[in-house]
Formats: sequence, structure tokens, C-alpha cells
Amino acid sequence: MADTPRSVLVTGASRGIGRAVAERFLASGDRVASLQRGPDAPDGVLVVRGDVTDTASVDAAFAEVEAAHGPVEVLVANAGITRDQLLMRMSDEDFDAVLDTNLTGAFRCVRRAATGMIRRRSGRIVLISSVVGLYGGQGQVNYAASKAGLVGIARSVTRELGGRGITANVVAPGFIDTDMTRALPAERQEAYRAAIPAGRFATPEEVAGVVHFLASPDAAYVTGAVVPVDGGLGMGH
Ligand code: NDP
Repeated sequence: MADTPRSVLVTGASRGIGRAVAERFLASGDRVASLQRGPDAPDGVLVVRGDVTDTASVDAAFAEVEAAHGPVEVLVANAGITRDQLLMRMSDEDFDAVLDTNLTGAFRCVRRAATGMIRRRSGRIVLISSVVGLYGGQGQVNYAASKAGLVGIARSVTRELGGRGITANVVAPGFIDTDMTRALPAERQEAYRAAIPAGRFATPEEVAGVVHFLASPDAAYVTGAVVPVDGGLGMGH
């Protein structure tokens, strides 16, 4: 696992946290690909256009990455969306869309990545969850359910594949300054800031450093963990 360059696949590296993660792996000499719907990504990242809500699209994207960079050795399942709405007004469609991208999308990628990892008897899987997965969030029944579900995936994968040199961990960011959070009303942003012991929001790079560590040889014995990067917001959860 120590050898670079490794074949790293990040879902959703066009902006925000995924972009910072891709840049972090590039900086350490890895070959990095991004599975995303749009065209933009950092220089040096191989963009494979696809949609995590579509199994055939995920499989085709992995085939493209394998042909260019070799089997995926590090998977960072980061692609995610929100469709916030109070419970009583949340439609089936709002619920399903968020689950399909955030949870089933991660499942599709993990399942596909595991094939090569099992064969190589090594691999690193990092799932980007959220503090909201365990803390809950008003208007976020769909999002919180999807993010809590990622913990179940990582821990089950750890039990299934832990003996084959594969680790599966969850990173649970708190409030990170990205397009997703900039879209929130100012008063909601302020309420979060007041609740964060660190007294500030984080940069995407602060999440990327932790993801990079979990994929490093130093983290070979860290698996099934939920690692908060939240300035203390979710303490005790
Ligand atoms: P952004 O909205 O900035 O970026 C989301 C990324 O996901 C984009 O690259 C987007 O690319 C990609 N994406 C979305 N849907 C799909 C899809 N169906 N198929 C493929 N790619 C897709 O989000 P953030 O950077 O803020 O968040 C990244 C992750 O971190 C998410 O899972 C989010 O839930 C989580 N998170 C964020 C926090 C924050 O404070 N920002 C806090 C906690 C967790 P494109 O549109 O081109 O497909």
C-alpha cells in the first residue's frame, strides 16, 4: 500500500471537498481520477464522466480508470447531494434522490472497487459521511439517513474484507466551507458557527488531510472507524 503512484478514484472531485481530496493525492504523487457528471476538475485529474446513481455508468467509469491508471487501490466515495425539507413536507422523490446518490451511489462504487482490491489483497476505502449522520439535522431526514447508512457499509465491509488487507473508514465532516454550505441561509450558518467549539468552519483541505492519512500506510490498522473532522460539533455522538 505504500507504493506510489497509486490508482486513486474520488467521486465528485469537480469542487469542494472532493476537489481538495483529489489535489491532496495528486500532491503526493498518486494517479487520481474523478467520477463526476460535469467536466471541471483540478489539472492532472483524469475526469471520467458518469453518475453514481447508475450502476452501468459506475461500472463503465471504473473500466475507464482501470485502463488508464490500473485497478483502483484507493476509493474515496465523496459524491453527495442535499434536498433539505421538513419531514412533513418531504416527498418520496426528495428522500429517494438523496439516498440514491449518497448511500446507494457509495455502495455501487464500493462493490465495484472491491473486486480488484480482493484480488490484490489490499485496498483503502474512505466514505465521506457527515456529522449530521449521527447528530441529526432539522430538515435533513433524507440526508442524515443516507450519511448514517455509510457507517453500516464501512463496518460491514470491514467485517467481510478486513482479513484481505482492505480497510474501510468513514470521515464525518462538520461544517465545511463549500458550495453546498454556502447555499444555506445566513442565519442557519450562524447557528452552526455558534455551536462549533472550534468557533469556525473548516476548509476542504482540512478534510482532505484526514482522508489522505486514512489511505496511508500509517493507517493500516485503522478500519471500521468513524473519524470526525468537525471542530468538536458532534462530540459524544
Ligand atoms: P459539492 O456540492 O461542492 O460537490 C459535490 C460533488 O459531488 C460534485 O463534484 C458533484 O459533481 C458530485 N456529484 C453529485 N452528484 C453526483 C452524481 N450523481 N454522480 C457523480 N458525482 C456527483 O459538495 P461538498 O464538497 O460540500 O460535499 C462533498 C461531500 O461531503 C458530500 O458527500 C457531502 O454530503 C459531504 N459533506 C459536506 C459537508 C460540508 O459542510 N460541505 C459537511 C459534511 C459532509 P457533478 O455535479 O459534476 O456531478
